[in-house]
Amino acid sequence: MDLQFLGGASEVGSLGLVIRDQGRTLLFDYGLTPTDPPTYPRPAPTNVDVAFLSHAHLDHSGMTPLLSRLPKARLIATPVTIAVADLLTKDALKVARLEGYLAPYTPSDIHSLHAKFTAVGRHDTFRHRGIEVEFTPAGHIPGASMVLYRGEKDVLFTGDLQTIPTHLVGGAEPLECDVLVMESTYSGREHPDRRETERRFRDKIEATIERGGKAIVPAFAVGRAQEVLMTLASTGFEVYLDGMARSVNEIYEAAPEYLADARRFRRALDGVHVVEHPGDRRKALREAEVIVTTGGMLDGGPVLYYVGELYRDANSSIYLTGFQVEGSNGRQLLDHGTLTIDDTVIHPSCEVEKFDFSAHAGHSDLVRVAKESRAETVVLMHGDQRDALRAALEPTCRVVLPENGKAFAL
Ligand SMILES: [Zn+2]
Repeated sequence: MDLQFLGGASEVGSLGLVIRDQGRTLLFDYGLTPTDPPTYPRPAPTNVDVAFLSHAHLDHSGMTPLLSRLPKARLIATPVTIAVADLLTKDALKVARLEGYLAPYTPSDIHSLHAKFTAVGRHDTFRHRGIEVEFTPAGHIPGASMVLYRGEKDVLFTGDLQTIPTHLVGGAEPLECDVLVMESTYSGREHPDRRETERRFRDKIEATIERGGKAIVPAFAVGRAQEVLMTLASTGFEVYLDGMARSVNEIYEAAPEYLADARRFRRALDGVHVVEHPGDRRKALREAEVIVTTGGMLDGGPVLYYVGELYRDANSSIYLTGFQVEGSNGRQLLDHGTLTIDDTVIHPSCEVEKFDFSAHAGHSDLVRVAKESRAETVVLMHGDQRDALRAALEPTCRVVLPENGKAFAL
């Protein structure tokens, strides 16, 4: 059996793993890094038999439309992942058009991919020509799955992983396997206590409202915006939602079995005012106390409209809720207190703070998942600081730190 990363081995982004075993070629995730311009993994082999998609985030799904051009490849994922990946890949094409760079695929590739998808349930086993693969929930976001391939060895591919239960989804449970291919985004780093973070987030918003300001909450459309809305449920704040998260909400509402508590999710959304058209944004600006909107790193989307209107108001706040990648506007805001909008640098007077609503397991939880898997080999991927995890795991198992493009045997 050999493994080869097309991308995403030593960085968070553009993930793709090829496993060759007993004459089969299997692909696990095929994503792009949505920077400006995006970066792409190496091309997938043309003889892929089956591709498995752990979840819909673009760094895992963004290149899948190219698989429509491979003659025999089939693509397996949960129905929620299929629906959200369709939305995100279409949006990636729109962004490419707006920003003026060459897209890696066409709308017809996305369309053709529909015929190649097979949906599997959250605890289903996929069997095809001797290939057996089990799906099991990975926490992280609704529909996210760990994928257990039963081959010459049992290989568990975690995709992105969260072990603590959140409002939106339950936590992942460790699974036994021979080889664990595990994400390591938070290698060496722990998250602050989630309940405490939520309490501080709500208190900060309340203080903003009390001094007459509005809280702008930039949030990623898939997973984060919904988690934030559930955190704000029953606070009584006037919450407005704008951006692509609206479409994601509809997909989640139609798939209640993928949510930790579908009734609570619906109730949280019931209290939220949805901005249906750009023309409604003035109303949102007038009446909202909290505006939850994309993009999560302030690099585009309706958030820029709201920030443009409110940045001079010292009573208002910008509360970031997600990871801010190097080079993003959100990172610039955190590090230097400035934003670049339409080539103009502005200095917001608003209060700025970042809250850790991460959907990734922290270091200790990753160590626990690896130990309880009882894997003989742990392959650390999807992380740029993997040494801390290696040091923690090496006493009990063999640890492999793969490099992009280099095949290795197991
Ligand atoms: Zn993810």
